[in-house]
Amino acid sequence: MKTITYNLIENDNLYFEKISRLADEVIDSSRLGVERYIHLYTKYIDKNRIEEERSYEEYLFDMLSFCVYWKTYSKIAEETFVWPVYLARKLYNIRQKRKGLKKYIDPVRGVLFTAFLYENAVYPPAEFSEINIAKFINWLDATGEFREEVKRFRVLADYLNGLEISAKRVWVNEIGRVIERFDAQRENLLSAYTQNVKKFISEELDRHRWKEDYIFCGRKEVEYHLSMLGAELMNRAYSSMFNSSNSVTLLVPACMRKFGDDRCRADRNAFDIKCADCSSDCGVSMLNKKGKEEGFNVSIIPHSSDFTTWLKTWAVGGNIGVIGVACPLNLILGGLELKSLNIPAKCIPLNYCGCVNHWDKKGIPTEINMAELNKFLKERKTGIEKKTSQESYSVLCGF
Ligand code: SF4
Repeated sequence: MKTITYNLIENDNLYFEKISRLADEVIDSSRLGVERYIHLYTKYIDKNRIEEERSYEEYLFDMLSFCVYWKTYSKIAEETFVWPVYLARKLYNIRQKRKGLKKYIDPVRGVLFTAFLYENAVYPPAEFSEINIAKFINWLDATGEFREEVKRFRVLADYLNGLEISAKRVWVNEIGRVIERFDAQRENLLSAYTQNVKKFISEELDRHRWKEDYIFCGRKEVEYHLSMLGAELMNRAYSSMFNSSNSVTLLVPACMRKFGDDRCRADRNAFDIKCADCSSDCGVSMLNKKGKEEGFNVSIIPHSSDFTTWLKTWAVGGNIGVIGVACPLNLILGGLELKSLNIPAKCIPLNYCGCVNHWDKKGIPTEINMAELNKFLKERKTGIEKKTSQESYSVLCGF
């Protein structure tokens, strides 16, 4: 199997153990200084009735990801003209509403990205000012790659802009310390899984110039690590909600199929694809079989941009627990979207990427770690059994 950017199974079988260790380290390091700000931020959220209070891990991840992306993109954002950012955002919004226009809009966005928005280079971050924060968020928004993160960052930016300069400086220093620890540990624990990211960027990324996925395919190694950490933190934060869901749907990407669109016999409707089991050694068919035996549904999402439509149509209401499968770069967006719709969720990263849209001309069928899937199913089963026995006990006792 060819490793294009990342691979969770090539070197060892310890990825999930290591990502859990990294999450513990990051949470520990936040206790020294950032914890205070997370409590203040939570109060700010409550006071302004912005959302139902989220967990410590989720707010920590908001702050951490804001700063990691700030280090990565704030300088490019500061130096990009306003009009291409505006135009790219406008076109993205039109494309989201009218899917049929994608084939006309994407090439224009590819030109805007390559000519104005993105450079395959590393710069020091911009000065941390209100105007640069606004430019940074608008730039992220224009790329379309950070749709959900942008919503989180707008809230955080309003909070930060309201702090006294001295408090803002302390916050920057404290979160900087967490990032230092994250950087040191991620190299140590995760770089073995992402060895090819730098190679891909230096040798292959040029093939994506003038295309809409130029920014997506050029995402840096630190962003893979950040997303992996985010997935672990979200899985922890969403556990109790997922474990009391009424049913489970496993949402898998089309790149897990053995065959492409030409040979896959799956039944399509407007929003998702249901496997028709045309080939017993197809990864999706195997999951479908497991789902029938163990009581969960499997749905194929054609592309990550179809995720929202699927969620709004099928999953809202009914307390359906969703296990989303995607490559790390798409996991956070999906996880945040599920959370914003109050859908109980878990996520599993693909073991490697290989989709025909971005990574490989022919497409490499992708796969997931079955032990991780079994772990989530087992935890939920235990949660449901516990809930049922508590309810029976309450009925018996007449509560
Ligand atoms: S087994 Fe299912 S998902 Fe796989 S190629 Fe056949 S119909 Fe498509």
